[in-house]
Amino acid sequence: MPILRFRTLDKTMDRKPIKVKEVSAKRSDLFGINVFNNDAMRQTMTKEAFKSVQAAIAFGKKIDRKVADQIASAMKDWALSKGATHYTHWFQPLTGATAEKHDSFFEQIGDGKAMERFDGGQLVQQEPDASSFPNGGIRNTFEARGYTAWDPSSPAFVYETTLCIPTIFVAYTGEALDNKTPLLKALQAVDEAATDVVHYFSKKVKKVHATLGLEQEYFLIDRAFADARPDIKLTGRTLLGHSAAKGQQLDDHYFGSISDRVMAYMRELEIESLKLGIPAKTRHNEVAPNQFELAPLFEEANLAVDHNSLMMDIMKKIAIRHNFEVLMHEKPFAGINGSGKHNNWSLATDTGVNLLSPGQTPMNNLQFLTFFVNTIKAVHDYEELIRASIASAGNDHRLGANEAPPAIISVFIGEHLTNVLDELEKVTKGKLSPQEKTDLKLNIVGKIPEIMRDNTDRNRTSPFAFTGNKFEFRAVGSSANSAMPMMILNTIVAKQLKDFKKEVDTLIADKGMKKDDAIFNVLREYIKVSKKIRFEGDGYSKSWEEEALKRGLSNNKTAPKALRNKIAPKSIELFEEMQIMTSLEVHARHEIEVEEYVKRLQIESRVLGDIARNHVVPTAVRYQNTLIENVKGIKDIFGASYKDIAKEQMQLIKSISNHINEIISLIDAMVEERRVANKIDNVDKMADAYCDRVKPYFEEIRYHSDKLELMIDDELWPLSKYREMLFTR
Ligand code: ADP
Ligand code: MG
Repeated sequence: MPILRFRTLDKTMDRKPIKVKEVSAKRSDLFGINVFNNDAMRQTMTKEAFKSVQAAIAFGKKIDRKVADQIASAMKDWALSKGATHYTHWFQPLTGATAEKHDSFFEQIGDGKAMERFDGGQLVQQEPDASSFPNGGIRNTFEARGYTAWDPSSPAFVYETTLCIPTIFVAYTGEALDNKTPLLKALQAVDEAATDVVHYFSKKVKKVHATLGLEQEYFLIDRAFADARPDIKLTGRTLLGHSAAKGQQLDDHYFGSISDRVMAYMRELEIESLKLGIPAKTRHNEVAPNQFELAPLFEEANLAVDHNSLMMDIMKKIAIRHNFEVLMHEKPFAGINGSGKHNNWSLATDTGVNLLSPGQTPMNNLQFLTFFVNTIKAVHDYEELIRASIASAGNDHRLGANEAPPAIISVFIGEHLTNVLDELEKVTKGKLSPQEKTDLKLNIVGKIPEIMRDNTDRNRTSPFAFTGNKFEFRAVGSSANSAMPMMILNTIVAKQLKDFKKEVDTLIADKGMKKDDAIFNVLREYIKVSKKIRFEGDGYSKSWEEEALKRGLSNNKTAPKALRNKIAPKSIELFEEMQIMTSLEVHARHEIEVEEYVKRLQIESRVLGDIARNHVVPTAVRYQNTLIENVKGIKDIFGASYKDIAKEQMQLIKSISNHINEIISLIDAMVEERRVANKIDNVDKMADAYCDRVKPYFEEIRYHSDKLELMIDDELWPLSKYREMLFTR
């Protein structure tokens, strides 16, 4: 029987694109048809119920039980009309994935009769048997149960035959056990703080919401390759494998034509996304071979996060139908680009103004500058926490590698805005003269829209870049749930805006300053003190690392180091002051993340040991035996001169032995380190041990295995090769 690798290749070569059912040529006809959105609600609900939901969405007003019954009944009828048979509370536990437990609407009502039922109680609250979701010790210590509660700000939807109701997940003692709860709190905090600040400029604004556009990068490989490679199957990435002769150096994949199979996949993904109300719009190839991106249009941040989680689920499901495996890992293949999830973030008012977009008048631009500078200051003050928000085992491989931002957080704003901030630094301390004010308004603040128009700076390696009317947080990993980085970003901006308001008000009250003067004065100070976070250069140069060190910026290269900042006193104070999380919740989350890091490395280490020992070494031995036979034969024929004739073969035999020996002794040493690490009872120290003592073996083992891959007869090599996985379409 031919080896698995060739059967796999055969399979992939016979693949045809899967036909996608086109429901309607017009994408707009599909948009939101499976979402219980405003239209659906208006059509199915009483006025009272509809108003109540709207108030809950806009201002978090409580919905009373009687109205909840009405809403549930309308929702059920609507869902049944869409073919739903079950319902589920859909939530995002701290595993990063989504969770659901399906219940049927079906209920017996005696007399051998049955009906479909769903009431307000079932809508508003459920108690999933979720004792195995990670909780960082919270539920063990306090109360064994947790419950899910309806989040009306994210609309319910029908996926396949299930009505999915977005919910939060909390312990009975009140601690959040999910990603969404703290995000919602952070969004509320930033709403309050930003609305207060906007009132300096416009009294009409009642609400500010964070907007978020998530660009999702991913790899697609034929499913058969994933099935044939234990490392991809179990860890989501290749632990071994020599680079293909051709990688991304020709840049021929980027925006290149998309293969028919991939096109069919993307088409179905787009259709399914649109039906669920996910505004999927752009699709194109990314830089690396077989790497792609899907970037829905931006939405309110909570919804965007939900939609991204949902999209990741359906990406995986649809991939199966198309015989693909979608790889969301941050670094599935060594030597080529990894995948990120760019978080495009801004703040918008309920009056439709993007607060990070320069406006038509100098006053609007002062408003823009206020939010712009405050965001920079927030990132400056909490750069280590921002770094921590994106820390994971997978992202460690990506940060600082090909095209990805480094582990150092900095803000890129482009040359023109740098000049504006330089000018603002010169603003007089105290009251401004009328002349200076006019000059500022006309020549600096007033000119912003013009300079923005030709601001074409692009810096792909900056982790946090201003891109015209939004900040783009690019350091987020592709597999991450954006709730975490977004919770942190919105929290630090909320805190910053709150402090800003206080300082400006103080200058007005105590120093008798005019509002504008006070704002200019505070901004000037912020620009000065936050200068070190601004960096316009090449993010992955060695010189930037040195420079950043001099500036006092952190450079936490590994997740365990970075994560520690989440439980730093400064971070806990922040979360408590802004009422996002209690110290207990912060610690619980930290523990979960560190544990997850350990588990991932533990699994990778085991899988690597297994494939190196059981796949690579035996293959090397087999090939070596062939060489030995060959040398023996040459000796039989040529006698003493065989040494000359079989020189290369004998050298190869030696080299192979050498690599085999290295692999085996490295695996033994790695296993020993793992054994030691597993005995450590402090999870932080265990993570350090895995990071500093176990992980270094991965690269070393890989080195020898990859060398063997180059030496051994291609016919014998058992693992699908990079060129096969990356260039088979
Ligand atoms: P890129 O060049 O990085 O691909 P795009 O202009 O295509 O940038 O936008 C990328 C993402 O940014 C999209 O999801 C888009 O909807 C989003 N975006 C645009 N404006 C905003 C905004 N004001 N707030 C949040 N996201 C935004
Ligand atoms: Mg982008």
